[in-house]
Amino acid sequence: MKIESVAVHVLRHPLPTPFAFSQGWVTHRSATLVEITTDTGVTGWGEAFAQGLEAPQIAAAAIEHSLTPMLLDADPMDTEVIWHAMVNRTRDFGRTGSVVAAISAVDIALWDIAGKTLGQPVYRLLGGAFRKRVRPYATGFYRLRGPGEAERLAEEALAHFESGFRIMKVKLGFGVDDDVAVMRAVARALQGKGCTLMVDTNHAYGRAQALRLGRALEEFDLRWYEEPVAPDDVAGYREMREKLAMPIAGGENAHLASGFLPFLTAGALDVAQPDIGSCGGFTAARHIAALAQAHGVAVNPHVWGSAVAQAASLHLLAALPVAHHSLAAEEPILEYDRSDHPFRNALVDQPLRMDNGWVAIPERPGLGIEVDREVVARYRIG
Ligand code: CA
Repeated sequence: MKIESVAVHVLRHPLPTPFAFSQGWVTHRSATLVEITTDTGVTGWGEAFAQGLEAPQIAAAAIEHSLTPMLLDADPMDTEVIWHAMVNRTRDFGRTGSVVAAISAVDIALWDIAGKTLGQPVYRLLGGAFRKRVRPYATGFYRLRGPGEAERLAEEALAHFESGFRIMKVKLGFGVDDDVAVMRAVARALQGKGCTLMVDTNHAYGRAQALRLGRALEEFDLRWYEEPVAPDDVAGYREMREKLAMPIAGGENAHLASGFLPFLTAGALDVAQPDIGSCGGFTAARHIAALAQAHGVAVNPHVWGSAVAQAASLHLLAALPVAHHSLAAEEPILEYDRSDHPFRNALVDQPLRMDNGWVAIPERPGLGIEVDREVVARYRIG
């Protein structure tokens, strides 16, 4: 089997109501999709993570100009071999960011092809499912104005609860006092409802403020405190972990096993959060998972993409062992993006769906999705 063509689709659409996280205003939702076709007629789809402020054209250019020439005529079943070739080829200008997101998209598409060719869901090729369904957590709580929205965010928490979510991650990073006011309002709204909360500041603070916030949040029994400090500040992560009671999470801005290694060797993380669309795809996620497992660190994938990345993330979630086995082990949970996205669900025939508080792992071959080319064409800008 040979790769015959590689097509990149850049999708982008303005949001009717822009929203903010601590790093800026998100005015558009984007996706960089890759469609790889083989001489046997099998097509695989992948997606590069497009962070809210990331131009999707960067990963697209890396796929088109750096990766495609080496993919044509290669055997798509050689996922590990091709992955190393891509990483080697881009080492001097990649290793992180959109270039690794580009590699991730290609790698996901190759695993989709492998699954479709063998008639197996990707999770089975990864070694089988530890779980056939996952608990989703609501990611939302973005700002529509900025600070001072505690009451509206408390109402949002209730809306997530009414929709069936029992685990929620609150976006913080708009000033420590405002953050604390938000958490008090959210916790008050959810009081007695049996919900679990996490927080995510998207590295809004330096160490002193991050610590001050963490100490103020100890009463909320958080499942984790995500990206407390800058993604490069390994010592800062370690300090948070040593001085705060709650588990420390991070990794959506780390790439490849080599990007996670400093955090793991420093004992700087409780929860590693590779994103399938940016860490280097399934192949890198397996490397990272093995490395984390050896360091006694849990892996809980991050995902904020469209339906292609979400499907890929579900297969990864299915195939992840728990870090600390017990009869009551803490299972990984699915990041369920509740923020506005004009084309996320319309892209595929079976988008993410929560049923009675669970999301099922796709069972069809490959990623288990059929991409709607009309929707791709409608939102395609390049
Ligand atoms: Ca995050």
